[in-house]
Amino acid sequence: MSPGGGGPGPTRRLGPARSAPLRLCYSTPEGELRVAPPGWGALGRSGDRLTTAGAWVPLPPGSTVARLPGRAAVGRRDVRGGGDGDPGRIEALPRTQGVAVAAILPVGHLRLLLPAHGPSDAGGPALPLFGYTALADRAGELVVAAMRTDRFEWWRPERFSRRDLPAAVAAAEAALPGNPVIAQLRTCALTHNCYTAQNTFHRRYEAALPTSAACNADCLGCLSLQTDSGATTPQPRIARAPGADQLLAVAAYHLEASPRGMVSFGQGCEGEPLLRTEELLPVVRAIRARFPDATVHLNSNGSRPDDCVRLADAGLNSARISVFSFTPGLFAAYYRPRGYTIDDVCQSARRLHDRGVQVAINLLTFPGVTDAPGEVARTLTALGAVEADQVQLRTLNVDPLWLLGRLPRLEPGIGLGRMVTQLRQELPRLRLGNFTRPVAATAVPAAVTP
Ligand code: SF4
Repeated sequence: MSPGGGGPGPTRRLGPARSAPLRLCYSTPEGELRVAPPGWGALGRSGDRLTTAGAWVPLPPGSTVARLPGRAAVGRRDVRGGGDGDPGRIEALPRTQGVAVAAILPVGHLRLLLPAHGPSDAGGPALPLFGYTALADRAGELVVAAMRTDRFEWWRPERFSRRDLPAAVAAAEAALPGNPVIAQLRTCALTHNCYTAQNTFHRRYEAALPTSAACNADCLGCLSLQTDSGATTPQPRIARAPGADQLLAVAAYHLEASPRGMVSFGQGCEGEPLLRTEELLPVVRAIRARFPDATVHLNSNGSRPDDCVRLADAGLNSARISVFSFTPGLFAAYYRPRGYTIDDVCQSARRLHDRGVQVAINLLTFPGVTDAPGEVARTLTALGAVEADQVQLRTLNVDPLWLLGRLPRLEPGIGLGRMVTQLRQELPRLRLGNFTRPVAATAVPAAVTP
């Protein structure tokens, strides 16, 4: 198991009854994954509520089971022997037996419930930034509270064999000696297992162009810089902003091999690319002139609408704007933005759409917050108003209890699964998924739309 070490693989039996009880799982002090004795039912968390409501599916291939050090496993104790339907009593498994566990899902899946666990009894730093998901045993099979949201071929984990990666990295270093973008992506690809960085070396699909060392926000869940949680970041931020020539050289290296591929500013290992608009404008113009079929993409916080329009006029044809909440107070609590508001973010998305740019909203989901009734209503209104092409339903990677302690309390969530149903019903033209598609349709090999 990770981060507490390797545990046994799940015991699999074919066709477990969907109605079988969900049993609590935990990790022994030695890091072994165990199922609690009969009478301990599993729970998940939605905001402040402990529940099992929603879909539970078999643990997807490519998942990791993580041990949550110092956090008690919390379940429902069936004190009357009434099985899974018994309301029972919520209890923490004795710490002498072990600690809580969670699943970390591969991309393309949406977490529906957080793991149920107690606070850190050591009072230590927040958990590392991963998408902790409720995990249970059902009739001998490990299951998670999750749903599949995208199957785009470019991102299938089995396509990312590391066998050829060192040679591909060496080839890029030989072709672009001393390029700081390549140096950053080397660490991302080899140490942090970033698929976008690996693509850059394999010269296929979507390449990463980390651009900015600075940001005008201080997100509670920022993957590249944590200012006050004490959590380790999975993708440390690029130390110095690369120059325009260096960015263009990497883009050309990628697109010469994949002229209909994608190059993307705004990665997990950097700050906000819009803070470097002046340097990006000549890069975007040069890419567009030389590679007319390329998708030139921006992942952004959407803080500067005018800069978005200038980039679109230079040749940007795709953008993904991340949003935790469309509610001003919740937006401010999460982003801690400097000099912009959610209105600027919506304006960026709308003006990019009006310029003919493919626009995706990257909705950073968190059970019990994103699906609170008021949040659902505001999200539906905002997505309709900006006329986004796609909403990407992403699991927010952060210590659940640490985040909840920093947000205002909300009404109980309706369930992310029900929210997805509402999105489909009320915005039928909006595509749901997890991944950005290239703009040139011919560049999509065997794409599968859910
Ligand atoms: S906007 Fe992006 S780079 Fe900036 S703090 Fe938030 S997550 Fe980090």
